[in-house]
Amino acid sequence: MILVLFGPPGAGKGTQADALKDRLDLLHLSTGDILREEVSKESELGLMAKKFMEAGELVTDELIISMIKNKITTETSGKGFLLDGFPRTISQAHALDAMLKANSLKVDNVVSLEVQDSVLIERLLLRGRSDDNEETIKNRLDVYKNQTLPIKEYYKDLGILVEIKGDDSVEIVSENIFKAL
Ligand code: AMP
Repeated sequence: MILVLFGPPGAGKGTQADALKDRLDLLHLSTGDILREEVSKESELGLMAKKFMEAGELVTDELIISMIKNKITTETSGKGFLLDGFPRTISQAHALDAMLKANSLKVDNVVSLEVQDSVLIERLLLRGRSDDNEETIKNRLDVYKNQTLPIKEYYKDLGILVEIKGDDSVEIVSENIFKAL
């Protein structure tokens, strides 16, 4: 199964991915986690990505697409993927479709976690990651609305999108996702 966890920053994608990956026997791929690891290693990719991440902007499609392509094509466990934080633009969604198609695969389900802005801001400020300051959070929410939200319509039109209320407890949200799948 190829499952995309979709939603704004602070919606709980990473938390839900952790809860669901074992239950569904999927490999969790978080582009944010991969990028943070590259930044801490000070790799070439990390150095290129850092300034975008600190500003709450998206890293370029080109970098992200080649990074994810690399992960998907070198992974040989035979498990499906749980994608978290990717795709984030329409061109990333198209690139994902193309790379999966080349391997006779497709996105099977997209779970959209629905959480209102005030709750997102509260959660992000509590989480306190280095890009979780008030100014960057505001920008990330704007970037989400302008560049990422259009993907929701794309997957809705394909008939593979389910919307799940994301402001309940971790256990309830996780159970609702599981049932919806
Ligand atoms: P996240 O952990 O998903 O909130 O991602 C943290 C930061 O990494 C984002 O604010 C972006 O700067 C960058 N990032 C993660 N995933 C992507 C993606 N698919 N496309 C572009 N930038 C990304």
